[in-house]
Amino acid sequence: MKPETTHWNRQDFPEAARKELAAKPSQDAPFAHSQTRRNVRNATEIIQAKRNAVVAELPEWQDLRAAGAAIRAHTLEHLDHYLLEFEANCTRHGGHVHWAADAAEARKLVLEILAPHAPREILKIKTMTSEEIGLNACLEEHGMHPLETDLAELIIQMGRDRPSHFVVPALHKSRGQIRDLFAREMHRPELSDEPEALAAAARDYLRQKFLSTRVAISGANFLLADTGGVCIVESEGNGRMCLTLPDVLITIVGIEKVLPSFQDLEVFLQTLPRSATGERMNPYNSIWSGTPGNDGPREFHVILLDNGRSPILADDESRQTLRCIRCAACLNTCPVYHQTGGHAYDSVYAGPIGAILTPQLHSMQAAQSLPYASSLCGACYEVCPVAINIPEVLIHLRGKIVEQQQSTVAGSLSLWNIAMKSAAFLMQDGSRLHAAVHLAQAAQRPLVSRNGFIEWLPGMLNGWTKTRDLPALPAESFRDWWRRTRSANSSLQPSAEQPSEPRHD
Ligand code: SF4
Repeated sequence: MKPETTHWNRQDFPEAARKELAAKPSQDAPFAHSQTRRNVRNATEIIQAKRNAVVAELPEWQDLRAAGAAIRAHTLEHLDHYLLEFEANCTRHGGHVHWAADAAEARKLVLEILAPHAPREILKIKTMTSEEIGLNACLEEHGMHPLETDLAELIIQMGRDRPSHFVVPALHKSRGQIRDLFAREMHRPELSDEPEALAAAARDYLRQKFLSTRVAISGANFLLADTGGVCIVESEGNGRMCLTLPDVLITIVGIEKVLPSFQDLEVFLQTLPRSATGERMNPYNSIWSGTPGNDGPREFHVILLDNGRSPILADDESRQTLRCIRCAACLNTCPVYHQTGGHAYDSVYAGPIGAILTPQLHSMQAAQSLPYASSLCGACYEVCPVAINIPEVLIHLRGKIVEQQQSTVAGSLSLWNIAMKSAAFLMQDGSRLHAAVHLAQAAQRPLVSRNGFIEWLPGMLNGWTKTRDLPALPAESFRDWWRRTRSANSSLQPSAEQPSEPRHD
């Protein structure tokens, strides 16, 4: 089933990036522009340095990486089997497992589960799938207030902001901005901007909510097929509170998050924290299954969300996208993300993984500019703890986009496609290419400046010379030089004469 397009996919990446880069400080957003970019760069550089240090401690890192990739690839090959095994074991322990084909079905299921309890407030522990299905807006529409309990998510919610990173959603905020926000929203004008003071203020605020709210919604890092268990790793302990104190717990999780067995955590509980936050292990690792004894929630539901994942699974070349364990190491190392920050992706999933996941979740019908938001430098692949070859998938998706565009009349008649087809026509035949090069050499003459570069091009070509100069075609092409310096009888013998400048057709 085709997933709906959420509010996250309104803008093309170049348009959104331009706005992010050009944003000027104003009274409402005094730290926009350079301050935001500086915050993003500082935070990602610190996390990256910590990650590099703890990864270097493990001589077996590449083996762990290969093991993680192999486990995830095997699971995806047999996803139907492991999901059914999870369902059987979770149900055996008293859990209720639901299947949601798309966002609308997932929201409907949540509302049906909540209806008998009629909660006014709902605790949430960081769940990206709930953002993916637009759950907060849906709950508000039905008179319920979702309360984010992860500190960074709370900052985002209070500031009516958008996350810019999926491990550290508020990394674009400085502590001064957070102090001002807490002082206003929590009525604490005396608050300092010391991290300890800010954390204590959030703890006071949230503790009352934990003790009085009866329903929670969570995400999950992993599902364990052999035990029916659900695993969350976190640093603050808010997850543990959400998982143990409420009467009703709903976990919404993508179908790709299942692992065959508890033992597989041995790999991922080493690679995930090191890659995500540069920690050797997460302070809180919670695993729960069903509703055992008098401990924890009385009612426990798991919603298994497809929402566009099945078509990705069916594509041999892009299936590796679903191996992702959402560590965000690829964001922290990406030069494009460093420059633009997460908002420019206009997607729940930012950075390199967002550039391949978001368009695929929308059957390549939305967010089509994201696969181009990369220089293909390969830094994301190098750091990925499950060895997803993101550049390879980006190129595959770019090909799909071109195919889709060419399949429509408007697309096939676009200036870009006509230019590409003309280039293909010329390059298929040596004499055609030769004639075109001679034509271009003549046409460029009025445009070449004294330094041998073209500084301005007309029409759509102007995009190139707006930010850089174009080297002019040399007076003699490689083909002409080859012909001039090699006779037909000695075509395989190198000539004594070498070209005085690089030549190319
Ligand atoms: S693609 Fe790899 S590096 Fe990026 S978030 Fe997923 S697991 Fe982490």
